[in-house]
Amino acid sequence: MLVSVALPLPLFRTFTYEVDDAQAERARPGMRAVVPFRNRRELGVIVASGEPAPGVTPKPVIALPDDEPVLGADMLALCHWMAEYYVVPLGIAIRSVLPAALSSQSAPQPVRRTRRVASIVREIPSLLQRDEVFARTKQQRALYELLESLGGRAAVEHLTEQLRFSPSVLQSLVKRGMVAVEEEVVARDPFGWRAAPKSAVHVPSPAQRSALDALFAAKGGDVFLLHGVTGSGKTLVYIELLREVVLNRGRTAIVLVPEIALTPQTVDRFRAVFGDQIAVLHSALSDGERYDEWLALRDGKKRIAVGARSAIFAPLRDLGAIVVDEEHESSYKQGEAPRYHAREVAIIRAKREGAVVVLGSATPSLESWVNADAGRYARLTLPARVGEGRLPAVDVVDLREAAREAANKRQEPTDWLRLVISEPLERALSDRLKKGEQSILLLNRRGYAAFVQCGVCGDVASCPNCSISLTYHRAPERLVCHYCQHAEPPRTQCPRCKGLLLKQRGWGTQQVERLLADRFATARIARMDVDTTSGKWAHAEILDRVAAGEVDILLGTQMIAKGLDFPNVTLVGVVDADVGINLPDFRASERCFQLLSQVAGRAGRGPKGGRVFIQTRVPAHHAVRCAVEHDYTKFVSQELAGRNTPTYPPNVRIANVVFSGTTEAATASLASSATTWLHALLRKRPVPGFTVIGPAPCAVDRIKNRWRWHVLLKAEHPRDLSRLGRYFLERFRVPNEAQLRVTFDRDPVALL
Ligand code: ADP
Ligand code: ZN
Repeated sequence: MLVSVALPLPLFRTFTYEVDDAQAERARPGMRAVVPFRNRRELGVIVASGEPAPGVTPKPVIALPDDEPVLGADMLALCHWMAEYYVVPLGIAIRSVLPAALSSQSAPQPVRRTRRVASIVREIPSLLQRDEVFARTKQQRALYELLESLGGRAAVEHLTEQLRFSPSVLQSLVKRGMVAVEEEVVARDPFGWRAAPKSAVHVPSPAQRSALDALFAAKGGDVFLLHGVTGSGKTLVYIELLREVVLNRGRTAIVLVPEIALTPQTVDRFRAVFGDQIAVLHSALSDGERYDEWLALRDGKKRIAVGARSAIFAPLRDLGAIVVDEEHESSYKQGEAPRYHAREVAIIRAKREGAVVVLGSATPSLESWVNADAGRYARLTLPARVGEGRLPAVDVVDLREAAREAANKRQEPTDWLRLVISEPLERALSDRLKKGEQSILLLNRRGYAAFVQCGVCGDVASCPNCSISLTYHRAPERLVCHYCQHAEPPRTQCPRCKGLLLKQRGWGTQQVERLLADRFATARIARMDVDTTSGKWAHAEILDRVAAGEVDILLGTQMIAKGLDFPNVTLVGVVDADVGINLPDFRASERCFQLLSQVAGRAGRGPKGGRVFIQTRVPAHHAVRCAVEHDYTKFVSQELAGRNTPTYPPNVRIANVVFSGTTEAATASLASSATTWLHALLRKRPVPGFTVIGPAPCAVDRIKNRWRWHVLLKAEHPRDLSRLGRYFLERFRVPNEAQLRVTFDRDPVALL
């Protein structure tokens, strides 16, 4: 008997193998198969029975490791769709759907249950003592002070691998008796030790009720866009829907959230209601643990999967509902092949399996909004906050005026805080501190200073591997590339002109934290950014402290903007709304509007109300203005108009083809020969409404030492992108495959 096997290789075809009679019974589609391939063994999945080809003697399958298929017919069909739509080989699509433990021929990795943790054991309270103790050991002091700012303890792995301290510096601190390192047992399932909170029982409001009525009456495959302002109670709608689908109708469900670590409150609410029925698929799970959850879902022991993007592939049977919370989030798009968007996969999967889809957001993506306008999705609206919450009043602080005023007043040049936090925002902060209320400050830029510039020649310190400036970090003191993690010691002299006047420009979270601590000496400040969220659970730990009232000011990057529901937060300040607004990307305004709206939505969720200050240099920009006015529809109509000249999604469908290589010349020439090839093809076989734009260097034209060029394909008909993309990727010959690479990104979320 012959079978057709898909292998996880960059080849657009399947391979035929022979199965002996003894195994024929088990050689069904969806079963894994170990097969010989070019003198090695490969692990693939049987996708169909095989056809004999003249003159070819198929090799025998080596082994069939499973008793049951790892993919059911529905999941296999979903893989076929992904392979075609995102233009990847079937075997690559299949690999992304299965848990990692099933993709390797070796057994799942043993589960690591301990980690090494460093903690401060000797306090050094006075600065004088510190200067003495660390006289000539600057590195030790930096590490010691970093540990302090991390609450006195941190995982050794985080210090050495992520923050790049040398292990020997840590060792010296241990030898001197200032720091101790111990083994700590890691909880197997972090959600196991997080007590499931009591669920507050709410009666749905009339708006929630009518949304639920529509969802309960829906047919399988129906898609709903739940547009509810921040704090309007979308989570209750999801929970009541699942109660109906899973508990009353006995079916199963998937809940997608942008990132589990950032949304522990949302996940807790589901756990409170559904308890053991839920598998929480978070990134802290080892491959083995993830596989355990996968089995529990496949065997019906758990009936709800909650997780980020890849949870859409949970092996549930009889799927009744899929919730995509914060559907506009770009983290739903996978960055490597297959570059799928979990929202799109959700819709395809739901159609086939008869599930209802709910896409929820306060700031839906333009794609979803237009689909609702066109009647492809049904729109449900929650127009107001539930309970006692009210949308907060938003004040704009024009930083240009603030700077002018400060100049007129000849303010002390030592009043550094004023350069970052305007007078009204500072007053509001100090008022909240007096009243014992909490504040959130957003600054979407980590590190200490955005870049370092020579005051004489203007040279900006940039990464040797990427065309991007280096960010100055204080603890540890380093210049760091946020693209490739390259790190180097801070400069004392300009390498170009030998000038000694090096200036730090652009405030980062580390610096603002320091300035706030200087001004508000008694305030309890927590900083939340990539540098302080070491362990996978650091986010949850910080947020638990905020919930318990142990934090007065939470300062952080965009990771604080989502999903947080703290009634005692009455003030939100956006330190610099303009970060990112001018990026050369067609979604820059949309991202900015979403971020501002989401973070503003953290204020005023309780009876005390709330207030928001947005500091900006472009108060007239529509992204800022519409966020201030809480006017989503106005933003959409202006933004959609802007995407007509030139056309961008959702007004047209696009794919971004990126060419990369180790030399600039070869990369540019590959991009231009590919473009010529595409134009020639289109001349021979014209495709109406199809255009090729470029080639051009990418906005970030070098990352990790690879030069990058791109070509944009625009199509009126989505099908043309699959067809042409496939034809191009299969036939266009890349001259030097060892050095040059082509990637195809369908429906890209960014063009940088
Ligand atoms: P969203 O996700 O839309 O921002 P949430 O689901 O977080 O809003 O709800 C905001 C708050 O309102 C939560 O504290 C939630 O418990 C509460 N809430 C939700 N529905 C109701 C209701 N019907 N009555 C009273 N409070 C509610
Ligand atoms: Zn770099």
